[in-house]
Amino acid sequence: MQHLFRSIPSIDKLLKSPIGTDFIAQFGHQAFVEQARKLIEQARKHIQQKSKLPEFLLSESTFLAHLKTQLLAQQQIAMKPVFNLTGTVLHTNLGRSLWSERAVQAATNAMRNNVALEFDIEEGKRSYRDIYISELLHKITGAEAACVVNNNAAAVLLILATFAQGKEVIVSRGELVEIGGAFRIPDIMQQAGCKLVEVGTTNRTHLRDYRNAITENTAFLMKIHTSNFQIQGFTASVSEEELVALGKEYQLPVISDLGSGSLTDMKALNLPAEPMVQQKVASGVDLVSFSGDKLLGGPQAGIIVGKKQWIDQLQKHPLKRVLRCDKVILSALEATLRDYLFPDQLTENLPTLHLLTQSIEQLNEKAQQLKQVLGKRLDSRYILQIEPSLAQIGSGALPTEKIESVALTISSENQRDLLALEQQFKTLPQPIIVRLAQQKMWLDLRSVAQFENLIAMLNDKDNGL
Ligand SMILES: *Cc1c(COP(=O)(O)O)cnc(C)c1O
Repeated sequence: MQHLFRSIPSIDKLLKSPIGTDFIAQFGHQAFVEQARKLIEQARKHIQQKSKLPEFLLSESTFLAHLKTQLLAQQQIAMKPVFNLTGTVLHTNLGRSLWSERAVQAATNAMRNNVALEFDIEEGKRSYRDIYISELLHKITGAEAACVVNNNAAAVLLILATFAQGKEVIVSRGELVEIGGAFRIPDIMQQAGCKLVEVGTTNRTHLRDYRNAITENTAFLMKIHTSNFQIQGFTASVSEEELVALGKEYQLPVISDLGSGSLTDMKALNLPAEPMVQQKVASGVDLVSFSGDKLLGGPQAGIIVGKKQWIDQLQKHPLKRVLRCDKVILSALEATLRDYLFPDQLTENLPTLHLLTQSIEQLNEKAQQLKQVLGKRLDSRYILQIEPSLAQIGSGALPTEKIESVALTISSENQRDLLALEQQFKTLPQPIIVRLAQQKMWLDLRSVAQFENLIAMLNDKDNGL
C-alpha cells in the first residue's frame, strides 16, 4: 500500500510547479492550498479503505484536472441564474420581474459612472434623488409627486411612521392580510408605533363602520388591496371614492396599499384585471403605494405617489434616509418608467408583460422544441407529453385567476425517477426549476425567459444530463 500513498502529490511540490503558480494566480493561494489539502485527504482515506488509488489520482494530470474543476465550481457565484419553468411568472423566491433592456442599460451605466443622483445639473444644487422618477410618474399616473424606497413593505412602514406614529389607523377586517415573507399589516403598524383600529367583519365592511371608528386620534383611513386572496359570497367593502368623501368630511387623508399595482390596463392585454395606480389617483386617494418588481416589471422598489404636501413630508422623515434606494435601482426604475412612455411597445419591451401575453401557439411551439431536445436526452423510463397548463402571475397578484398556458409534462412509472430527474435538473449549469403535481413533472413554458439559452444548454452533450 505504501507505493500507493507515494503517488499522492505533496502540497509543496504542487506549489512550486508551473501549474501550481498558474492556479494560484487564477484562484488565489488560500483557495488552492485548502482545496488541494482536501483532495489529498480524500485520496488517503480512499487508499486506506479500498487499497487502490481513487480515479482522480490515476495520473498527475487527472489530479490537477479534478482540482481545477473543484476550484472553478467554488469560484462561481452562488446566486446563480436559473430557468423558471414553475408557471409562476413573478416568482418571489426566484427574484420576481426581469428588467427591460432599457433598464439593464441604465443600471450598468450607473454602475460604471457617477450620476447626477442628488444634483441638479442646470442649477448645480442639491435635489431629491427620486425627483426624475417623480416627474415621470406624474406624467404616467397624474399624481402630483412620488417617493421611492427599498420595497413596498418599506413604503407602507414609511407612510405609517410619518403620519400615524402614536395615532390610530382605521382598516377593514377583511383587508388585514399577510403577504408572505412575514409582511403582516398589523405587525408593520406595531413597528411604526401606530394603533390599528379594525372595523367591519371579515366578509363585510360598510362606510358607517369607518365613520363610527373615527376619533380625535385618527391619523388616516387605510385601504389595503387583498391581492393574494379573495372573499366570495356575501361580501361588502367600501370603495376608495366613498372613503375619500368620508375623509374630506373629517379632514383625514386616505391611503391605499395596492401591492402589485399595474400602470397599464391588464384587461386590454387579455389578462385578469388588476387595479391601476391611475384609477386610485383619479379617485382622490391621498397616497398610493405599490411595488416596482411586481406587475410594473422593474427593479425591487416601493413607490409612493400622491399629493405633494404628503410626499414632501415623507421625503423629510429620517426613515426615508434609512429606506432609500441606490443609484443603480433608481436608474433602472427610471428607465422602466420610460418604457411606459411607449405604450404600444410595452409587451415587447417589458419581459414580465412579454411572458404574460405570449399566445398559446407560441407556447406550443416552445413546448415542441423542448420536447424534442429532452426526448433525445432522457431514457425510456420517462414519458414526455405536451399538455394544457394553468400559469399564474405570482407575487400575490390575482392568485385565484389562472392564465392559460402550455407545459411539457414528464412522467414515469417510478416516482423516484421523477425526483431524481428533478435533482438532476437542479445540478445543470443553469438549473431548471419545475413544478411537481399530479405525479408528474410540469415544465410550464409561460414563465421561462431566455428560452434559446435553455435549448442550447440542453443540446450541449456535456451538460451532465
Ligand atoms: C406585495 C405586497 C406588499 C409587499 O410589497 P414588497 O414590494 O414585496 O415589499 C405589500 N402590500 C401588498 C398588498 C402586496 O401585495
